[in-house]
Amino acid sequence: MNEYAKKCPECRTDYEAKRLNQVYCSQKCKTRFNNRKVRMAHHEKEKVIANTHDILWKNREILHRFVTQKCPINQLNELGFDKNFITRFSKIEVDGKKKNCSHIYDHYFYFIDNNTIQIGIERSRT
Ligand SMILES: [Zn+2]
Repeated sequence: MNEYAKKCPECRTDYEAKRLNQVYCSQKCKTRFNNRKVRMAHHEKEKVIANTHDILWKNREILHRFVTQKCPINQLNELGFDKNFITRFSKIEVDGKKKNCSHIYDHYFYFIDNNTIQIGIERSRT
């Protein structure tokens, strides 16, 4: 068996390798394969970011409907709100009590009791 007789994984051509560790028939095939790999990784990244962004943006839109209001969390849940998707987290003090505050972009909410949240919007810093 000729170890130098190989099949290019990119163009599927049978070729005679110059070195045993040669994989692709040509530089062109090697480059093409690598470009595709980079493109796929980029595409994967875009997909993950877009999915997460859609959920976050939907959350923000739901919060925005009730902005500055107190609202039962169930009411938001019914609209598809997912409190696990937030952009940051902070500690705030409300009436002398420390509260965990969840931010979704420029909106935020914190629990005032087990079922109710207070919703707010951050003022622009500019
Ligand atoms: Zn090839």
